[in-house]
Amino acid sequence: MTSPSATGRCDLTVFWDERLTSYDFGPGHPMNPVRVELTIALAREFGLLDAPDVRVSEFDAADDKLLRLVHDEAYIAAVRHAGETGLPEPAHGLGTDDNPVFLGMHDASALVAGASVAGAKAVWTGGTGHAVNVSGGLHHALAGAASGFCVYNDPAIAIAWLLENGAERVAYVDADVHHGDGVQAAFYDDPRVLTISLHETPRTLFPGTGFPNESGGPGAEGTAVNVALPPGTGDALWLRAFDAVVPALLRAFQPQILVTQHGADAHALDPLAHLVLTVDGQRTAAERLHRLAHEVAGGRWLATGGGGYELVQVVPRTWTHLIAEAAGRPIPPDTATPEHWREFVRGRVDEIAPRRMTDGHPTVEFHPWSEGMDPANPVDQAVLATRRAVFPEHGLDPMLDL
Ligand SMILES: [Zn+2]
Ligand SMILES: [Zn+2]
Repeated sequence: MTSPSATGRCDLTVFWDERLTSYDFGPGHPMNPVRVELTIALAREFGLLDAPDVRVSEFDAADDKLLRLVHDEAYIAAVRHAGETGLPEPAHGLGTDDNPVFLGMHDASALVAGASVAGAKAVWTGGTGHAVNVSGGLHHALAGAASGFCVYNDPAIAIAWLLENGAERVAYVDADVHHGDGVQAAFYDDPRVLTISLHETPRTLFPGTGFPNESGGPGAEGTAVNVALPPGTGDALWLRAFDAVVPALLRAFQPQILVTQHGADAHALDPLAHLVLTVDGQRTAAERLHRLAHEVAGGRWLATGGGGYELVQVVPRTWTHLIAEAAGRPIPPDTATPEHWREFVRGRVDEIAPRRMTDGHPTVEFHPWSEGMDPANPVDQAVLATRRAVFPEHGLDPMLDL
């Protein structure tokens, strides 16, 4: 699947163990860890975790020194205290409807962060070409507060680890339906980190940030990139927007490593947001990011999960496609889901599992930006606003084709 000019290895390490399901806000909360359990079960049924060039690796929880790369000491202490006592810490966003306190909260959250840091470390030191942590991608967590179901910001901590260990240019691309605000905030003034987030416009969705004019602080102009898409955006227009913004910026920035967040909540069935992508569009996005990792970053690629609240019909298939893609063994979209897995789903959550790995559009067609733009189309307006806000900082012309 790699182009002739592509470089780098195409082997994969999956950072996973059952303890990651302890990141659990409890009954009734949208982010139920059954979604990662069903994902790993599906990937396993497809033989992906035992494939040649794929390893499943253990990892340690992130220690305080790692957490402090991004989070305040007082916040870490508050998370620990809340997780031990079950008591809220209102000053730190703990004990709200979004972020209820649960026992063991610190340990579970530090495990998720540890898995992403281990992935970054393995890729950076040459232990693996690609790394995936489907339980990661907790991109809303802030330096001093939990936010949007996220306690410790594992992608930001992984990126901070890379910077501490010699990386000079790291690119982060966030495909979650929500703005990657915590990661953007962590590196807003840092020219070494390019953050690109494609999301539903903050006018209609949490967290209310992610406008195109949020483009980086002094000395880091153009290194925060936001594509704010209108509600109702589907596969073709999402991919058109991606194509009009992401490849050109990555080629200009020349990252040494690519970190990506694959929140599955841009799907039409997701209960929390209003974009209408399919599993096929999300699989196509993963394929493009994989290709870009080889083209611009020597194949060094760390991919995480993220949001995604259609726990059975969407998340397991989208992230199994991600694992398959990163393993260099993409699953043909028309493939049936394994019967064993469907039985497991029925027993585990009493729900009929999806029968195929596609939502019915195996090949997603879209009109590339180079074929011209439509000034009346709100997606094209969003893309143009983003290109105007950041392209000149990278020596690119917002009005020119790619
Ligand atoms: Zn590869
Ligand atoms: Zn999300």
